[in-house]
Amino acid sequence: MNRILIIEDEEGISRFLQLELEYEGYKTEKAYDGREGLRLALDEDFDLILLDVMLPGLNGMEVLRRVKKFKDTPVIMLTAKDSTTDKVMGLDIGANDYVTKPFEIEELLARIRAILRNNLKEDPSPSIGRKPVSSGKLLINAQKHEVSYNEEVIPLTKTEYDLLFYLLSNKNITLSREQILENVWGFDYMGDTNLVDVYIRYLRSKIDDKYNIKFIHTIRGVGYIIKDEEEQ
Ligand code: CA
Repeated sequence: MNRILIIEDEEGISRFLQLELEYEGYKTEKAYDGREGLRLALDEDFDLILLDVMLPGLNGMEVLRRVKKFKDTPVIMLTAKDSTTDKVMGLDIGANDYVTKPFEIEELLARIRAILRNNLKEDPSPSIGRKPVSSGKLLINAQKHEVSYNEEVIPLTKTEYDLLFYLLSNKNITLSREQILENVWGFDYMGDTNLVDVYIRYLRSKIDDKYNIKFIHTIRGVGYIIKDEEEQ
């Protein structure tokens, strides 16, 4: 049975979430402030964490940062602000998804299911023996979750890594922003495709600009493509 930790200071919302989740067959645990939430998240094992952004004690972003430092428990942020900055910041720190308050419980449940499903898929399949994902000197070592160019390791955040992995495993194919959103972020972000552009910029500054290569190409009006180095 999947265990979900609810870190939310508004009692009404917290109780509502608990009832809905338990009705769906999940086991839940609740914390009403950031510090208690962080303690539970680190001490116990949860399959997923629902994390409010505005929390007393320690805010949600800080809780997220500290949890992700030690664990890879999936986190869905509950954000009150519908601002791209907030979403990008949360995702950048390693949140797996977010919903904007007030949210529809059905939407949240769908996102929870999607994340738990993805985690199942990833777990029992070690990438040993899988074909290396690469283009020229750029190489992804999926086993180590590591990207390198000419044997120099490039530090990437989780989202940057996932995005690069998706682009590179589909190299020489033009991918639309919608396709990228769906495959990297795991859900349709309701037309929020500027997130893709933001992350492409991050990748370009860490790879294209740094090594002075043209690696990620923009296909105007369509999306992005990574081409094999020799074909450039
Ligand atoms: Ca709150």
